[in-house]
Amino acid sequence: MAAVSMAAERFTARGCDVVDFGAGQPDFPTPEHIKRAAVRALEENRTKYTAVAGIMPLREAVCAWHGAQLGSSYQPNESIVSTGGKHAIFNAICSLINPGDEVIVPSPYWVSYPDIVKYAGGSLVLVTTLPADDFCLRAAAVEKLITSRTRMLIMNSPNNPTGMVIPPDEFERILDVCRRHKIWLLSDECYSHFVYGDAKPFSVGSLPGAKEHVVVVGSLSKTFAMTGWRMGYALAPAELVNAMLKLQSQTTSNPNSIAQYAALEALRGPMDSVGVMLAEYERRRKRMLEGLRAIPGITCATPRGAFYVFPDVRGALRKAAPPIQNPQDTFSLAAQLLEKQYVAVVPGEAFGAPGYIRISYAAPLDRIEEGLRRLSQFFSETAAAS
Ligand code: PMP
Repeated sequence: MAAVSMAAERFTARGCDVVDFGAGQPDFPTPEHIKRAAVRALEENRTKYTAVAGIMPLREAVCAWHGAQLGSSYQPNESIVSTGGKHAIFNAICSLINPGDEVIVPSPYWVSYPDIVKYAGGSLVLVTTLPADDFCLRAAAVEKLITSRTRMLIMNSPNNPTGMVIPPDEFERILDVCRRHKIWLLSDECYSHFVYGDAKPFSVGSLPGAKEHVVVVGSLSKTFAMTGWRMGYALAPAELVNAMLKLQSQTTSNPNSIAQYAALEALRGPMDSVGVMLAEYERRRKRMLEGLRAIPGITCATPRGAFYVFPDVRGALRKAAPPIQNPQDTFSLAAQLLEKQYVAVVPGEAFGAPGYIRISYAAPLDRIEEGLRRLSQFFSETAAAS
């Protein structure tokens, strides 16, 4: 993913007008009231070390916000604030996974899960989700893969890259599987508030009896357009929080103090900006889907959340011409798209799904129109060339 943005930046630096569908982050600025809280924190000299797990008012605010928004009931000693959601995921996996443990990860997957699992010495067990089922993870598919060595299931709903959202009843079945087999369920909720249509933000941590089996990871990055601030958290049994705290204590220490005060305002303050962003993402999603589905050969499951679409482009590449080797080779396709049409997308290979591309619609509508026009031209030329 970083490789895609670096390549896109190279083209932009040469003066090319790049349409960036590669970005995995909101294009909106951080809301004003949150920025002002950070300025106040600076002026009040909140510039010293804090408690490693975050200032107590912030841990309280995380629990209160999660309770009010997602229906859970966590206490501050069951919470830890980290330097972004990724940091919390890393600390949870490193605290729980020993060499030889198996970790089940749905595929397509967010790029970091396999590497973090491998770093901890765990073995990756992939469970494939399918576009015909809107990439939904199913409890029955998970259960088939469980062995005596399975220690954890990682799930991410709303999903990056597919936009899949797991319905609450399937979440219940998945939790039941984890409970019966005594395995941890790590639920990555970084996109929790970006769900469309009738769906409501949902946390498996709010289901009865969930808490002792579940690690919830959340992030302020997407919900509050705060990717650069690096604010995330985990909610988990106190014993696990203590293990994560030890790891955090000997690596990063506390998350940035000023960002913590900004996060406090984000969680305690008005949520209007979240609704405004969601409404805009919904408009963009509609246009993006229409535009992509109008390109011959492209099929696209309807994403129910996050801000990505994950079209299958193999049909459009069946007659692929060199240098694109075959319809699965979306790595070369992404390179060609950037070179010929200045459109940046992330190839499916990054998510374990060659033949697909990830398109982010965290971009203004006029850029989406322009990008769609170029994609359409690219695919008609590719088909004509073969
Ligand atoms: N989980 C998923 C699925 C993500 O897409 C991301 C960011 N791209 C993260 C976790 C981490 O977000 P952050 O560290 O910025 O909170």
